[in-house]
Amino acid sequence: MRRERSSENSVIARIVTKGTGESAGLVLGIGDDCAVFRPAEDEDLVFTTDLFLEDRHFRRTDHSAGSAGHKTLARGLSDLAAMGASPRFCLLSLALPDWADDAWIDEFLDGFLALARRAGIPLAGGDLARQERFAADIVACGGVPRGLALRRSGAQAGDWIYVSGQLGGAALGLESGTGAAWERHLRPEPRLDLGCQLRTWGATAAIDVSDGLALDLHRLCLASGVAAVLDGIPLFPGASLQQALHGGDDYELVFTLPAPLSICALGDLPLTCIGRIRNGEPGTMSLGGQALVPAGYDHFQTP
Ligand SMILES: [Mg+2]
Repeated sequence: MRRERSSENSVIARIVTKGTGESAGLVLGIGDDCAVFRPAEDEDLVFTTDLFLEDRHFRRTDHSAGSAGHKTLARGLSDLAAMGASPRFCLLSLALPDWADDAWIDEFLDGFLALARRAGIPLAGGDLARQERFAADIVACGGVPRGLALRRSGAQAGDWIYVSGQLGGAALGLESGTGAAWERHLRPEPRLDLGCQLRTWGATAAIDVSDGLALDLHRLCLASGVAAVLDGIPLFPGASLQQALHGGDDYELVFTLPAPLSICALGDLPLTCIGRIRNGEPGTMSLGGQALVPAGYDHFQTP
């Protein structure tokens, strides 16, 4: 089969034709050397960048182009959610190998832009290049009321530790390759509404679970200089405790509150208290009385 591949300019033209969205502060989007964004006077802008690499974050034999597009953006949006931020704009750079023909690129963009529309984040620019393996780099910018970005470092002894959703689904899906867990692995849902809600609840700290609860909660505890005592974890149906604790890619939020919530869900999203923050050796964690090792997905430890 002959692979059709358009020129760089025509790929950009097709992106623009698909509709890249607008936001209040985006003065100038795709088409010039830079985008122009004008923040509101009373907000701080937060930024994050994430790589999505062939054979590291996805395999083209297993993952559809649409799910790769979705996940590229979801990873950035999840970081915005963890800071309590609302999406403002994003930038997308793609390195395209020869196997990525027009049909694949179109499906990738459709998956990316469908989530972008739902999240209300315009694609304001980016870059294209050729390379042997596919790589996507997403830069996402969010806005928070000035001075109120939610950090990892604010947890205090006595705080209640919560997690959204159920954990271990993405790791189970990666292993099984089928069913709801596989869908969960392919299309994680960034918890943007919850992220904004956390500020109004007075959350003291938050982080998104990208590399596994144990490792990400450990990072929060280290940043806050505290320890954590856990008593139970909400499991994705069929997932093991190991998958929930040490699997990556769930993109749920872990957050701490000075008082317990009177609700157990935000809309359809379950919210579960999993333990308390305590004074102790920073980063120390236990689950059900047993020491919890901060192992998870680490790019520099994983072959
Ligand atoms: Mg993160």
